[in-house]
Amino acid sequence: MDLSDALGDLRQELHLPEVSELDLVRHFTNLSQINYGIDTGFYPLGSCTMKYNPKINEVTARYAGFAALHPMQPVETIPGALELLNGVQEILCEVTGFDAITLQPLAGAHGEMTCLMLIKAYHERLGQSQRNIVLVPDSAHGTNPASAARCGYDVKPVPTDADGNTDLAALTKSLEEHGDRVAALMLTNPSTLGLFEPNISLICKMIHDAGGQVFCDGANMNAMVGTTRPGDHGFDCMHLNLHKTFSTPHGGGGPGCGAIGLQAHLAPYQPVPVIQRDAESGQVVAEYERPLSIGRVSAYYGQFLMEVRAYTYLMAYGRENMADISRYAVLNANYVRARLKDVLPPAHDRPCMHECILTAEKYKKNHGVRALDISKRLIDYGFHPPTNYFPLIVPECLMIEPTETESKETLDAFCDAMIEICHEAMTTPDVLHAAPSTAVVGRLDETAAVKNLDVRWQAPQPVLA
Ligand SMILES: *Cc1c(COP(=O)(O)O)cnc(C)c1O
Repeated sequence: MDLSDALGDLRQELHLPEVSELDLVRHFTNLSQINYGIDTGFYPLGSCTMKYNPKINEVTARYAGFAALHPMQPVETIPGALELLNGVQEILCEVTGFDAITLQPLAGAHGEMTCLMLIKAYHERLGQSQRNIVLVPDSAHGTNPASAARCGYDVKPVPTDADGNTDLAALTKSLEEHGDRVAALMLTNPSTLGLFEPNISLICKMIHDAGGQVFCDGANMNAMVGTTRPGDHGFDCMHLNLHKTFSTPHGGGGPGCGAIGLQAHLAPYQPVPVIQRDAESGQVVAEYERPLSIGRVSAYYGQFLMEVRAYTYLMAYGRENMADISRYAVLNANYVRARLKDVLPPAHDRPCMHECILTAEKYKKNHGVRALDISKRLIDYGFHPPTNYFPLIVPECLMIEPTETESKETLDAFCDAMIEICHEAMTTPDVLHAAPSTAVVGRLDETAAVKNLDVRWQAPQPVLA
């Protein structure tokens, strides 16, 4: 059977839909219009950093010199691409305070896992392979314990104290108990409570004294860019989400980039290829001969066009303006927090960083209205809901991250809507229970949607004569 016969059979079996070009254009244009995105409205989804993705990023990512590269073409033919990758790495080293950056991991969770793999390789080389415990605060993003478990570690929780900080007494106790079995602590700073950990250097020292390593979940670097550097706080490694802080799109689950930063002692273990400038030739090279490397964690060079977008963003800001990112991100979150504090009290009564964490507990108690009902009602007001029920330790949690790219007018319109909805919660709670009433779809059974995921188009079975 030749190829065209094989393809002919394939096509028949597939029952592909036969539609005209116009019908296809309408189908996708209509779909695009019922989708909600950062280009259509405010998107305060906490921990996700839904900032504006500047259009200039898309212009450079489409330059033929970048977009038309083939990942398998000889490395000698891509010096410009290597320069760009090295450029992103150098700027991120400066922004984070780490000695080395690799852009290989394809998502935040992938960056976490890669860091833990490096930590494991490091301990093994030191003859410390009995270290099989990873400590994870109870406020952590779910990917943290998942990454640790995926790397074969036992996960032990670290509680948060009443002020929203790491509970030092509990940490001390945990280290006394497990000391020489602790491989690492995974700490998110600012935490998912939107708070900067005031004891960060002390915590790093406690873990180091016990022989462990400290990983920083830096998915939310947005509160620190240009202002302070995790590499100076005592961390050994961190991951960054370029698809959050550095304005590359969150493309429906991908592609992303979970770049990782490493102190010098972990750098020898980093995945290949290692992109760096060769001291002798002055050229940027892709090195594969790294005896201690954990090997590859992704195909080729990572998500190259994401790096082009991030590079464009970093260059457009420039070193002197970088701190504006964190200043406005923190200012905007505190503005929202201050405007809403009478209707939705903050979980902790102190200034927040890039996001504010509020509780709707009183509406649940007094009116049977939950955080989810408030969020669904926001859709009727034309806003994307904030994150709900995360971090898990805050009851009826609403996590609002406005980012630096929103105007005061937008923040005010959002706060006005939230205040109005809280009023409705007390006077007409059923309106909230029934929300959203203006959206294309109402309340979805999210559990069923996850458990019975069905994303395939299937043709109606043809009637055979
Ligand atoms: C988004 C996020 C992650 C995971 O990043 P992904 O790219 O979604 O895998 C991890 N930690 C925190 C705090 C996050 O906000």
